[in-house]
Amino acid sequence: MKNIVKILAVAAVSFSVYAFTAAETKTKETITVVIDAGHGGTDFGAVHESHMEKDIVSQISNKIHTLNKNSDVIIYFTRTDDNLITLEKRTAMINDIKPDLFVSLHVNQHKNDGTFGMEGYVAKESLYSEESLAFASDLTSKLSKATNLNVRGIKKAPFYILKNTNCPGLVLELGFLSNEKDRNYLTDANNQEVIAKTILDFICQMR
Ligand SMILES: [Zn+2]
Repeated sequence: MKNIVKILAVAAVSFSVYAFTAAETKTKETITVVIDAGHGGTDFGAVHESHMEKDIVSQISNKIHTLNKNSDVIIYFTRTDDNLITLEKRTAMINDIKPDLFVSLHVNQHKNDGTFGMEGYVAKESLYSEESLAFASDLTSKLSKATNLNVRGIKKAPFYILKNTNCPGLVLELGFLSNEKDRNYLTDANNQEVIAKTILDFICQMR
């Protein structure tokens, strides 16, 4: 029994390292979500001239943190600075937190610069596949109404983070860095604020 208590204490300490908002207990009125800003450090993700995917998703993630003033909406962030975190570590963080939802933020690229729009990905291998699918279509629909980003569709893909997490979750590709219209939209700070606010509103409505 003593050992169990110790393990829980260690887990609580390690949570506080990356949790902006501390939540030790979950109540019915509380929503817990993990925002995972993709890539980081030496992993730039999509790149176009000086624009990098890792920066865009980090800027949006940080804006979600700043905007969240709801004490009953607990949002954890897998990274808050420009660090490279492995997919295994991100997945372990999510499984430790056991959130109601995680959203992994990404920006796409394509060799055809005419390809544009948002894509949501869920894994059919996940036990939460159907729930994730519903979250993905609702969130992309709300985002497309609030922004000038179109929805390309919701797809199923066996991505590591989707297959290996024990909760609803989705990978959200916000648009294509290779497409001029999407790039101009996604790299603008005011537009990033609109995206962050829409994602936060969506999370708040989950209560
Ligand atoms: Zn990515």
